Amino acid sequence: NSFEELGLPKAINEGLLAMNFKKPSKIQEKALPLMISNPPTNMIAQSQSGTGKTAAFVLTVLARVDFSQPQQPQALLLAPSRELARQIQGVIMTVGQFCENLIVEAAIPGSISRELGVRASVVVGTPGTVMDLIRRRQFDVSQLKVLVIDEADNMLDQQGLGEQCVRVKGMLPKTIQILLFSATFPEKVHNFARKFAPNANEIKL
Ligand code: AMP
Repeated sequence: NSFEELGLPKAINEGLLAMNFKKPSKIQEKALPLMISNPPTNMIAQSQSGTGKTAAFVLTVLARVDFSQPQQPQALLLAPSRELARQIQGVIMTVGQFCENLIVEAAIPGSISRELGVRASVVVGTPGTVMDLIRRRQFDVSQLKVLVIDEADNMLDQQGLGEQCVRVKGMLPKTIQILLFSATFPEKVHNFARKFAPNANEIKL
């Protein structure tokens, strides 16, 4: 029950140390070994906020990024609001503070240069903006390895957001690893989640 046992890159362990995270929380202890193992498998994880779920998926994302390709999008995280997207971006930058060449961009309205497009290895955004960027060819999704959906109960339930998530997923590589996190999975959302993330490991705290 230690972060060292997980075999995460050294720079990430340094970030955890700096944040004073001494050992994995319960959700991290259960979910991380499954999420960072190869070949990658999908995950549906149910855990209340305050249990360390953000760090659980952030660590997985950082473990999967190849930092020698700093401007090539490799991980996409979707959240239901700009505020949450910004918050997740902050956690990634804090945990990843010692990862050299880590670039994290927020794909929320008004944040990505029209001229340059997305130039980051990790992208955190809201579904509508992400969809627009992909359609305008300002976001190269061809090398994405992992898709995270936070607050999946909100994201996959609401008519608009759920539809957008499905559309975005349809534009991504077919082999992408999908991680769904939520405090609750009402039955309807759970059924939808199982189709969205086929053959997922499921964890419930
Ligand atoms: P979350 O469930 O993502 O809302 O996280 C709840 C809080 O727990 C955040 O303030 C994190 O910084 C903190 N946290 C997450 N993982 C750990 C850990 N392994 N050790 C100590 N604190 C943690």
